[in-house]
Amino acid sequence: MNILVNRRQALRSALAASAVLAGGRLFAQSPAPAGPHKLPPLGFAFDALEPSIDAKTMEIHHGKHHQAYVNKLNEALAGHPELQKLSVEELLGSLDKVPESIRTAVRNNAGGHYNHSLFWKSLKRNEGTEPGDDLGRALLEALEAANPGEAKEKFAKKALSLFGSGWLWISVGSDKRLKLESMPNQDNPLMFGRKALLGLDLWEHAYYLKYQNRRIDYVQAFVDVINWDFVEKRFVELTA
Ligand code: MN
Repeated sequence: MNILVNRRQALRSALAASAVLAGGRLFAQSPAPAGPHKLPPLGFAFDALEPSIDAKTMEIHHGKHHQAYVNKLNEALAGHPELQKLSVEELLGSLDKVPESIRTAVRNNAGGHYNHSLFWKSLKRNEGTEPGDDLGRALLEALEAANPGEAKEKFAKKALSLFGSGWLWISVGSDKRLKLESMPNQDNPLMFGRKALLGLDLWEHAYYLKYQNRRIDYVQAFVDVINWDFVEKRFVELTA
């Protein structure tokens, strides 16, 4: 009997060890709970944005922080099959219909999942691209700037003025005009009936490893790695 139990334990340990190996180092500690939402791939190598954004920050930001928002969203939605059928966008656009007992968890974690999914797509190694004419003009108008240099300054100033953790957004309203606005926590324009064109993550986890307290240096580094092709395409879609 004892031998059987020991064998069973040994088998269990062996299976657990192989699961850890199969899962890879990154997710070995936190297997994703079952649920409709999944971590999207980053889309590029962790070191693709060096030196603007370092590889270690990207690895932890995507694999740990974003994964945690996905896991906690799935946890919050467990036992709510009707909510599990909704997309992240649908959830964020109708938080008032989410039961109060899980509303804050859904707001924070669906927000975190959506915001980071958009953030990864908005980043690309700098190949010297700039916004095209229409987007450039719309950005100047939204930032009340006379030229791109002034627009960058105003963008950075707004990023520095956000107290605590949150995001800086360029959003699109029903009038199709762009607006620069900052929001706390994982809040985003979808929660206020607007669309998100471009978001800058201003949580310290996005930059502290490399830039520590120098948020301004991180903001400038972000501007250098904006994927303008992606933002341009999105601008055309959201303002059509
Ligand atoms: Mn983040």
